[in-house]
Amino acid sequence: MSEVCTVNYIDHVGVAVKDIEAALAFFKKVFDLPDAEIVLMEDQGVKATLIEVGQTRLELLEPTSPDTGVGKFIERRGEGLHHLAFNVTDIAGKLKTLQTLGVDLIDPTPREGLSGTIAFVHPRSVFGILTELVESVPE
Ligand code: ZN
Repeated sequence: MSEVCTVNYIDHVGVAVKDIEAALAFFKKVFDLPDAEIVLMEDQGVKATLIEVGQTRLELLEPTSPDTGVGKFIERRGEGLHHLAFNVTDIAGKLKTLQTLGVDLIDPTPREGLSGTIAFVHPRSVFGILTELVESVPE
């Protein structure tokens, strides 16, 4: 096991929004970003989409109800930056490394997400940033 959690690149930046259709239309119209498919992820309580932005991506998240994680986030802090996602290789090994380093994990084991296999690291361990690890699913 390595002693550091090496990251490959910033996979995406997550943004919490109240109306994902309106937000996607805004980013397309104002920033000339490409269209993207909106996916309902019932188990995670969000409608989500990943917009290609050059070398990285923007993930829009609309809560399906106020009592979901993203719903509570918007209630407390309003719309805005929600999380930062690092792309990694061997996500399960990286989570073990982080635990060894004393980093608090929200997901001790990886799960399936919109962008691949994912796990969240607690913001209290990363300067207030909710941090997601992503291992891409091979094409
Ligand atoms: Zn994400």
